Order: sequence, then C-alpha cells, then structure tokens
Amino acid sequence: VSMRVAVVGAGASGLAALKCCLDEGLAATCFERSQDIGGLWRYAESIEEGRPSLYASVVSNTSKEMSAFSDFPYPEDFPVYLPHARLLEYLRRYMERFALRQHIQLGVSKDGCGRWDGAARGAAGSLGHHSFPQTTVVSVRKRPDFATSGQWDVVTEAGGTRTSHVFDAVMVCSGNFWDPSLPLHAFPGIEKFQGQYFHSRQYKHPDVFQGKRVLVVGMGNSGVDIAVEASRVATKVTLSTSRGAWVISRVFDHGYPWDMVFNTRFMSLLRNNLPGPLARGLISHRVNRWFKHENYGLQPEKSYPVREPVLNDDLPSYIITGRITIKPGVKEFKENSVVFYNCPEEEPVDIVVFCTGYNATFPFLEEADVKVENKHASLYKYVFPTHLQRPTLAVLGLIKTLGAIMPVAEMQARWVTRVFKGRRLMPVSPHPIFSKSLRFGLLFDEVLKIDWIVYLDEIASFIGAKPSVLALLFSDPKLAFTIFFGPCTSYQFRLQGPGRWDGARQAIRTQWDRMLKPTRTRATSVSSGPWPSLLTVFGFLLLMAAVVFAF
Ligand code: NAP
Repeated sequence: VSMRVAVVGAGASGLAALKCCLDEGLAATCFERSQDIGGLWRYAESIEEGRPSLYASVVSNTSKEMSAFSDFPYPEDFPVYLPHARLLEYLRRYMERFALRQHIQLGVSKDGCGRWDGAARGAAGSLGHHSFPQTTVVSVRKRPDFATSGQWDVVTEAGGTRTSHVFDAVMVCSGNFWDPSLPLHAFPGIEKFQGQYFHSRQYKHPDVFQGKRVLVVGMGNSGVDIAVEASRVATKVTLSTSRGAWVISRVFDHGYPWDMVFNTRFMSLLRNNLPGPLARGLISHRVNRWFKHENYGLQPEKSYPVREPVLNDDLPSYIITGRITIKPGVKEFKENSVVFYNCPEEEPVDIVVFCTGYNATFPFLEEADVKVENKHASLYKYVFPTHLQRPTLAVLGLIKTLGAIMPVAEMQARWVTRVFKGRRLMPVSPHPIFSKSLRFGLLFDEVLKIDWIVYLDEIASFIGAKPSVLALLFSDPKLAFTIFFGPCTSYQFRLQGPGRWDGARQAIRTQWDRMLKPTRTRATSVSSGPWPSLLTVFGFLLLMAAVVFAF
C-alpha cells in the first residue's frame, strides 16, 4: 500500500510537492481552501481572509528561466519577468502536464459577506459581497501512536462539514504571505491619526492615491512598488525606511535578468570563498554602480547588511525626479501628519500604507510541532521540525534565499518525498532525528546569508541530484562550462540521480534562447553572446582551482 501524504495548499510549492509525491509513487491528496489553484499568484479584486492578496500590477522579481520547475521550462514566448496572470498560467500548465488536478481537493463555494482583516481603517481594495470558499485544513495532529507510526490526524472542513483523515505524512505548503504583520504599537500616535491607513495587503490599484499626500512605511518590495505606483497619481509620496536597502534592477548587466547573472556557480564560488568583508565590499561596489545608494537616502544600515534587496527599476529615477522622497523611520503620528526620526519638521499626510510584511503562520498545526517566533523556527534545513520523533512533517517554501522560490520548494519536495519513503535518511539519525550540532533554525532575514545555489546543492546532494561539474568536464565539457559559468537553472538538478529528466541537457542548452525570444523581436544583423571574454578566461582558471579545491 502506498504511503498517504497530505499536501496543504495548491500554490506553487503545493503543486511541486504533489508532483514529487506522484513521482515517488506516494498516494497524495492536496487540500486547497480556495476554489482554484495558484496560491499567491491567483489575483483577485477582492480580499479574502486567509488568502494572499496581490496588487494588480505585480510582476515576478525572478526571471522565468530561474523560476522554472526543473523539468518544465517556461514557454519561450512568455515574458522574462512574469505578470501574475502568466505565472498562474504556467502553474496551470504544470498541473495539466503532470495530471495533478485529480489529486487536488479544492474549496467549496459558500456565499458570505467579505470580512475585514487586520486592524486597519479605510479601504484600498474592494470588499463587496462575494462568495468565500470554505474548504480548509483545520487541524493536523500527531496520532497517539505517532512515535511508532509517524501518522497524522488531518481534519478538513468543507461547506460546514468536518472530515477526519489519517495520513502517513504531511507537507505544509500553505504559503507565508497571507497573514499581515501590522505592528501598530510600533507607531506611536497612530490612534490619533485622522487620515486613512491600511496594510499593503489591502492595496489593489493606485486610484486610491489620486491627489493625496501618501506615506509608505517599509522599504520591502511591496513598499517600493506601491510608492512608485502612487507617485504617478498622488500629490506627494514619501517612503519611510528605518534600515534602507540595496535596490537592484531587474534589467541587470547588459540588460540580462539580474538572477541569470548573479546566480551562477562561478559567482557563487567567488561570493562564498572570499573573506566576508571583501565579499560585502564587492557587493556594495557592485550595487552602487547603478547609482550611489547613499546619495539617494537608501544605503542599508551597517547593522542590517543581509536584508533582502529590493528589485525595482524605477525607484532611483523617481527619487531623482522628485516624485518620491525617502525619509527615516517613523517616530510618531499626529492628527494629520507624521514625524520622522532625526527630522524636526512634521510632514502632512492623508494616507498611510503600512508595507510591513507578513507573519509566517500555521493555524492548523500545534505550536509544539512548528513554532515560528520572532521569525525563528526550529526546522532542520528549514524544512523538518527538529524535535519530532518521526520525519513525517515538512514545511516547504519558508526559506528566503536570494533567488527564485519555486526551484527551492521543488528541491525540498524531492528530498522530503524520499525521506518519507525511507529512501533517504537524514544525514544524522536516529532519535533525535536531527542533530542540534548541524545548522538548523530559521531567521528569515539572516537566511539571505545562505546562498541560493549552496542551499539547492546541499539539498540536491542528499538525493544524489547535485550535478558533478568535474565529471561533466570530461564527458561533456561544453555542458560543464555552461553549468559553471551560466545561470544555475534548475534543469541542472535533473541531469543525474532520481528523477533524472532526458530533456534537462536540452533545456540548459536553450535557456538563453527562451530568455531572448520575447525581447529580441526585431532581428538585427549584429549579435553578441552574453559573456565577456575576459571573465570567461579568468573563470576558466578559477574553475580549475575550484575543481582541485572542491573535489
Ligand atoms: P517585507 O519584505 O517583509 O518588508 C517589510 C518592511 O516593513 C521591512 O523591511 C521594514 O522596512 C518594515 N517594517 C517591518 N516591521 C516594522 C516595524 N515594526 N516598524 C517599522 N517598519 C517595519 O514585506 P513586503 O515588502 O510586503 O514583501 C513580502 C515578501 O513578498 C518579500 O519576500 C518580497 O520580496 C515579496 N514581494 C515580491 C514582489 C514581487 O515579486 N514583485 C512584490 C512584493 C513583495 P524598513 O526596514 O525599510 O523600515
């Protein structure tokens, strides 16, 4: 009898998890509380409790080649960065290609009134009368014989009816961007403020800012996107940041996507082998080449060197043209204005958008199983709770590394499903399954210290899917070269090991073609390759050194 696995959520991570279960011959059921798949990427005009809510203009900030699942490249005609509708379309195609739909239990519609979420006042998105889906995983609890069986009692609710199921394992893919963090206590005087305020989750379209003086609090990707959009219609836009951030353009060196240039094995080797101060100095030098962050009020505070960079192509030009003003953290609100730290004058404000991020919450789990506190959770390799007697619960896609999340969640799923089957034991076993001496734990911001490629390689090595550049150097030098110097697309992890895909080599060979196809729409007689020759020569020397050093 196949092992029964419950997958919670049918967003990008959930679909990958489901597909990996099926690949391993596990009997998986995916529970999705809403009426359609797609999770974060399914845009809706309404704001639903317990679901992520995007703004209409959102575009992925990782490129399609770097975001693809490892055996399913994006269609070549899709844009390089994806508006939410195209990303959702990709997920639908993935679901169809691997016949996942029949294993997904979607929500059941039930009419109800829209509920206001968060302690916000004033609306940005519409919250009319609309139907809310009502199928939900309400609880996941260890069975009494968990120590021996590793099994879970999973209770779901559909249309008011609760159902109990027993599963051998559970994969949590419920996403981290639906529970808004709105720390009003950190903003003295907000209760006196007479204007409108809301969390970025409630923002849909810029028309709410028409003719207003807008304050955007928090310089994450949401904050900067919203400030840029608001500044096209507002009277004045101020962006408040306590820590500052590096801003990177999606259109990177020579116009190539930032992640296809940044996330190569060669660059990763450099980043991870240079002494810390030198690596940080190089990064600072590199990001300041576009514009000097200090001159634009954006320089990150020294104490926060590893915060997530912001991907935005417009911010510096909007600052230099006076459409957005950068200010320090908020000291306090007054009735119709705001005071910033180290700024004596008050700034009049009509609307405040708190772009203060999200909490990672798992309401269906027991706190004792997965506890997230102050952005920490005890998860081995950011996946398996460290203290459970059996490795039958896994959390996917929680880690924040500097790169696309989809290949990461998929790699986690490939590993997890093999652990479930007992094909791959933890590197340390048995009880306690996870040695505390190994690196574990999760501090979301700190996680950025972990290189995207290093993390992927590490998980891939657990299942024997890490590509061997050295072996390829002898058997297929051209491919070895592409793998080492080219973007680390996820197809690399399908060249060998379990789940090997025959199309992987061809997908790697054609990765730049798919990237160029949607933009090179006017043929010219002159063309050039993506790599500067000096870098190539230097890199080759480094490859040799690395080969000797690493193997
Ligand atoms: P976020 O990245 O978590 O940023 C929240 C910001 O709020 C913080 O950086 C901080 O900004 C501020 N903040 C948090 N707590 C605060 C407090 N107590 N007091 C004052 N300020 C506080 O949130 P987000 O921008 O909503 O992004 C969430 C995730 O979605 C991120 O991973 C992001 O990359 C992703 N995202 C992606 C896209 C895209 O793909 N296009 C778009 C939007 C978001 P300061 O340090 O600047 O003050």
